[in-house]
Amino acid sequence: MMEVEWLAAHATDADRRKHSVQREAPRHYLDRDAPALSCLDTLGSAPWFSRAVAACSEDTLWAYGVLPWQIQWSFDQLVEAFDAKDKAAILRVAADLGHYVADAHVPLHTTLNYNGQLTGQDGIHALWETRLPELHGGGYNLVVEEPVYIADVGSWAWGTLRDSHGEVPLLLEAERSVTSGWDGALHVREPRGGVMQLQRDGLWCNRYHEHLDGMVERRWRSAVQGVSSLWYSAWMDAGQPSLEGVMGPGKSCGLRCWWGQRRGRHCEPKQVP
Ligand SMILES: [Zn+2]
Repeated sequence: MMEVEWLAAHATDADRRKHSVQREAPRHYLDRDAPALSCLDTLGSAPWFSRAVAACSEDTLWAYGVLPWQIQWSFDQLVEAFDAKDKAAILRVAADLGHYVADAHVPLHTTLNYNGQLTGQDGIHALWETRLPELHGGGYNLVVEEPVYIADVGSWAWGTLRDSHGEVPLLLEAERSVTSGWDGALHVREPRGGVMQLQRDGLWCNRYHEHLDGMVERRWRSAVQGVSSLWYSAWMDAGQPSLEGVMGPGKSCGLRCWWGQRRGRHCEPKQVP
């Protein structure tokens, strides 16, 4: 199996661990609007975990989520894996880091109202992150720019969380507005994964998707750019190790060069700015 196929196949491993591994679930979200997390308000825009523990207690953080810190922890593990040229670890941690970064781009992973359960909009989580991409993702432009070097991963993770959180009001409001003006059935039975499932009506979804004005595509594109940039940055921070003999052929010149080659270009690896 090629590395890229392995990564795709294992991109959701972190979700599968949620029920078997203690403390896995809170690594996937941060309920930034939870009153219990107001203790973070005075700690600046990208608080260190140790300072957050001192201000909020560790139990509180694990109760309301640790996603931005998890991105940093996984990033640090990836740097170590690159440094050790440990192929199995590189792939495993890269898949997990990609997963957490993608979760950080989903607005409903940043709020206490993660499934609309506090506002009578139950089911909006899967609607936004699964149903809409299944219906409309084929038309998205997911070709992004080359990865960029991210020097401060913590700030980047918190900034990403803030951007996602900023989309929550529109995401909820658009659902309310489309539903209140909808005459037809809200749900339909459709086959999915071999079984019939109750789904939000397809035409309703089209209307909702229009109201979101490109939000899902924007967050998805940003996730792709973020994942590639963090993988690249981890490799840079590890000192740009040659991966010859570690990864498959074609990557001996480094990730950035490999990326360039995939885009039909030749390039030299860049130095850390
Ligand atoms: Zn997840």
